[in-house]
Amino acid sequence: MRKHESRRIFFERCLRMAVMAGITISGIGCDEKKPDNETPVDNNPCSHLSGLSESDLDARKKFNYADKSPDKNKTCVTCNLYIPGKENAQCGSCMLFKGPVMAAGTCIYWTPAT
Ligand code: SF4
Repeated sequence: MRKHESRRIFFERCLRMAVMAGITISGIGCDEKKPDNETPVDNNPCSHLSGLSESDLDARKKFNYADKSPDKNKTCVTCNLYIPGKENAQCGSCMLFKGPVMAAGTCIYWTPAT
């Protein structure tokens, strides 16, 4: 494994642990309002959030994920944490949280691809 790759993997693991720790702490004392994650917004596979837990949905919110970035230079597809989709080029996933993300999406943790 190259030194650059092991550093990247370490960084990604740290991010995941920080996210999970933040969710656990923020989840204490929260109301139990259940989000509607069973109904897809449209035929877009990136909007299908069924199967995600409440904490998974909280992670998406915590990072202010949006399907469309207001800045064309800061989209998921240009982010270092983006994982391209295998079947749909417009829909991939993110290393920070579960569920689909749009290639044109963004969040507050956008990191330029290296
Ligand atoms: S911009 Fe945010 S949601 Fe999109 S890939 Fe990067 S970290 Fe994930």
